[in-house]
Amino acid sequence: MAKPLLPELHPNAVALTAFRALPDGSGRAYTISEAPSRAHAIKFSLRRAWAVGYVRPSTHTPCDCYAVLDVLDANDEIVQDFCVPSAAAFRWWYRTLDLRAIAEPVCTGTDSR
Ligand SMILES: [Zn+2]
Repeated sequence: MAKPLLPELHPNAVALTAFRALPDGSGRAYTISEAPSRAHAIKFSLRRAWAVGYVRPSTHTPCDCYAVLDVLDANDEIVQDFCVPSAAAFRWWYRTLDLRAIAEPVCTGTDSR
Protein backbone atom coordinates (compact mmCIF):
# COMPACT_ATOMS: atom_id res chain seq x y z
CA MET A 1 0.00 0.00 0.00
CA ALA A 2 1.46 3.34 -1.01
CA LYS A 3 2.04 5.76 1.80
CA PRO A 4 -0.29 8.74 1.43
CA LEU A 5 1.58 12.01 0.99
CA LEU A 6 1.14 14.74 3.54
CA PRO A 7 -0.78 17.81 2.46
CA GLU A 8 1.19 21.03 2.09
CA LEU A 9 1.87 22.74 5.39
CA HIS A 10 -0.56 25.57 6.10
CA PRO A 11 1.06 28.90 5.08
CA ASN A 12 0.45 30.45 8.52
CA ALA A 13 2.04 27.60 10.47
CA VAL A 14 4.47 28.77 13.17
CA ALA A 15 4.19 26.18 15.94
CA LEU A 16 3.18 22.62 16.77
CA THR A 17 1.49 20.98 19.69
CA ALA A 18 -0.03 17.59 20.37
CA PHE A 19 -3.20 16.13 21.82
CA ARG A 20 -3.92 12.61 22.99
CA ALA A 21 -7.25 11.00 23.66
CA LEU A 22 -6.76 8.82 26.73
CA PRO A 23 -8.45 5.43 27.30
CA ASP A 24 -10.62 6.88 30.10
CA GLY A 25 -12.22 9.28 27.65
CA SER A 26 -10.37 12.38 28.74
CA GLY A 27 -7.69 14.11 26.75
CA ARG A 28 -4.17 15.25 27.40
CA ALA A 29 -2.82 18.47 25.98
CA TYR A 30 0.83 19.33 25.54
CA THR A 31 2.90 22.47 25.55
CA ILE A 32 3.29 24.45 22.36
CA SER A 33 6.56 24.09 20.52
CA GLU A 34 7.34 27.20 18.54
CA ALA A 35 9.92 26.49 15.88
CA PRO A 36 12.71 29.09 15.83
CA SER A 37 12.68 29.18 12.05
CA ARG A 38 8.97 28.58 12.02
CA ALA A 39 7.45 27.02 8.92
CA HIS A 40 10.79 25.87 7.57
CA ALA A 41 11.61 23.86 10.69
CA ILE A 42 8.09 22.45 10.87
CA LYS A 43 8.26 21.28 7.25
CA PHE A 44 11.63 19.67 7.92
CA SER A 45 10.32 17.76 10.95
CA LEU A 46 7.21 16.66 9.09
CA ARG A 47 9.27 15.40 6.16
CA ARG A 48 11.57 13.43 8.43
CA ALA A 49 8.66 11.99 10.38
CA TRP A 50 6.75 11.08 7.23
CA ALA A 51 9.76 9.22 5.85
CA VAL A 52 9.78 6.85 8.84
CA GLY A 53 6.00 6.64 9.29
CA TYR A 54 5.73 8.86 12.34
CA VAL A 55 3.09 11.14 10.85
CA ARG A 56 0.25 10.64 8.39
CA PRO A 57 -2.52 12.75 6.90
CA SER A 58 -5.47 13.18 9.25
CA THR A 59 -7.92 12.46 6.44
CA HIS A 60 -7.88 8.67 6.71
CA THR A 61 -10.74 6.70 8.26
CA PRO A 62 -11.22 4.99 10.53
CA CYS A 63 -8.69 6.84 12.63
CA ASP A 64 -7.31 4.89 15.58
CA CYS A 65 -4.13 6.90 15.86
CA TYR A 66 -2.27 7.41 19.10
CA ALA A 67 -2.21 11.21 19.02
CA VAL A 68 -2.93 14.26 16.95
CA LEU A 69 -0.36 16.85 15.96
CA ASP A 70 -1.90 20.31 15.78
CA VAL A 71 -0.39 23.03 13.62
CA LEU A 72 -0.84 26.51 15.11
CA ASP A 73 -0.65 29.98 13.64
CA ALA A 74 0.76 33.07 15.36
CA ASN A 75 -2.46 33.45 17.39
CA ASP A 76 -2.26 29.84 18.63
CA GLU A 77 -5.25 28.93 16.50
CA ILE A 78 -5.24 25.41 15.08
CA VAL A 79 -4.97 25.73 11.31
CA GLN A 80 -4.17 22.11 10.40
CA ASP A 81 -3.71 18.70 11.99
CA PHE A 82 -1.85 15.51 11.34
CA CYS A 83 -2.09 12.02 12.83
CA VAL A 84 0.61 10.46 14.98
CA PRO A 85 -0.05 6.75 14.43
CA SER A 86 1.74 5.01 17.29
CA ALA A 87 3.25 5.39 20.74
CA ALA A 88 6.74 5.11 19.26
CA ALA A 89 5.93 7.87 16.81
CA PHE A 90 4.60 10.03 19.63
CA ARG A 91 7.77 9.53 21.66
CA TRP A 92 9.79 10.80 18.69
CA TRP A 93 7.64 13.93 18.43
CA TYR A 94 7.74 14.38 22.19
CA ARG A 95 11.53 14.44 22.12
CA THR A 96 11.83 16.41 18.89
CA LEU A 97 9.45 19.14 20.01
CA ASP A 98 10.45 18.96 23.68
CA LEU A 99 6.78 18.59 24.57
CA ARG A 100 5.51 18.50 28.13
CA ALA A 101 2.09 17.40 29.24
CA ILE A 102 -0.08 20.17 30.59
CA ALA A 103 -1.29 18.95 33.95
CA GLU A 104 -4.68 20.58 34.06
CA PRO A 105 -7.34 19.86 31.47
CA VAL A 106 -7.04 22.81 29.15
CA CYS A 107 -9.97 24.84 28.03
CA THR A 108 -8.88 26.44 24.81
CA GLY A 109 -11.78 28.87 24.96
CA THR A 110 -13.91 30.02 22.14
CA ASP A 111 -12.77 31.79 19.03
CA SER A 112 -11.89 35.31 20.15
CA ARG A 113 -12.51 36.97 16.81
ZN1 LIG B 1 -5.40 8.96 12.29
